[in-house]
Amino acid sequence: LPEAVPHPRYEVVLRHARLASGAIVDLGIAAGRICARGPQLAASGSVELDAAGHLTLPGFVDPHLHLDKALSRGELREPPETLAEAITASRGLKAHWTEAAIEARATRAVTMALRAGTTALRTHVDVDLSLGLRGFHALCRIREQFSGQVRIQIVAFPQEGLDPAGKVEGLLRRALREGADAIGGLPALSPDPRVHIDRLFAIAKEHGADIDMHVDESDSPLDLSIEYLAERTQRDGYEGRVVAGHCTSLAAVDEDTLHRVLAAVGAAGISLVTLPSTNLYLQGRGDRPPVRRGLLPVRAAVAAGINVAYGSDNIRDAFTPFGNARMLETGLVLGHAAHMGSPAELRSIVRMATHNGARALRLPDYGLDEGCRADLVVLDAASPEDALVAVAPALWVVAGGKPVAGLWAHRGPGAADARLYGRG
Ligand SMILES: [Zn+2]
Repeated sequence: LPEAVPHPRYEVVLRHARLASGAIVDLGIAAGRICARGPQLAASGSVELDAAGHLTLPGFVDPHLHLDKALSRGELREPPETLAEAITASRGLKAHWTEAAIEARATRAVTMALRAGTTALRTHVDVDLSLGLRGFHALCRIREQFSGQVRIQIVAFPQEGLDPAGKVEGLLRRALREGADAIGGLPALSPDPRVHIDRLFAIAKEHGADIDMHVDESDSPLDLSIEYLAERTQRDGYEGRVVAGHCTSLAAVDEDTLHRVLAAVGAAGISLVTLPSTNLYLQGRGDRPPVRRGLLPVRAAVAAGINVAYGSDNIRDAFTPFGNARMLETGLVLGHAAHMGSPAELRSIVRMATHNGARALRLPDYGLDEGCRADLVVLDAASPEDALVAVAPALWVVAGGKPVAGLWAHRGPGAADARLYGRG
């Protein structure tokens, strides 16, 4: 009799993973690599996981975040509303940051990202005369701490610009020597964007480093440093090695200019990264009516003392591909687009989703007071602001006095441990 060929054995076998194509496969995993892929793999795993036909994607890649600043908003006295105010406020905060404090916040932020499926990210880190390399050194330890879980790249970022004496450039060079993955920049906020780009290209080339700049983050059609960035990229043979983030000024230019710039960016092989959450929130605030964000001017209506509520409108129909009938999710979109982000405004959005809606509909006996109908939702959040920002899942939904839905209705209170939205 022929000897039975033993089935390969892997460290992990993930069964019944649904690929984006719809195909369902098993994956054999060993030594950190996918070693085998096929329907019903004849293999076993020391660990067997069952995806049960659920969508399986490669880990998310977050190409632009600021781990050194993450989760520091609670330290602010006055919440800033414009990019310029935010930079000033951030400058005040970071002067007092220790490496340990930065490391603690960044650890929480990377944990949030990892829990949500991100396995690679690129973080900028402020390198300037007040923070020095404290942020950089903290994030180097974060990169080490998460190695094997999240591939972290660090961009040495001169957030406060370059000084005439070249001290910041000295710090940037040190960061690159000590292992920064790329060099950043902020041309539009510098007195001479071309000189800024030239000086940073010089350092990048000395160290063979890639380039990732904050480009033209404004509402002005005149901020077009992206054109010179594209020109230098081609001239220096840096095609494919340059990333431009933000580029919001392109939303303010005429059509011909837009196409001219995009053609130059494409020819230079520059990747563009858009940052929708921050830029919807910060940009467009200088506009005076008419401001076309496609929405009722909510702040003005609230300021006029009007009862304002919001709703889902269409749910994945002919009018929009989006919609989950989740009031907190829609409220989060509203907060970004309507420039409503102070703690009081976040609370007011949650009120719009509850009491204001009830008032518009003239619902009797609405609320949590004695005598009201027992219609309520228990959220995995400690405050209305938290619930909105985290799009907190419902743990219990009680309707007409009976528990009818919610995570705990299906899985019991243990599900509370599945805090996918990573606060605290
Ligand atoms: Zn940024």
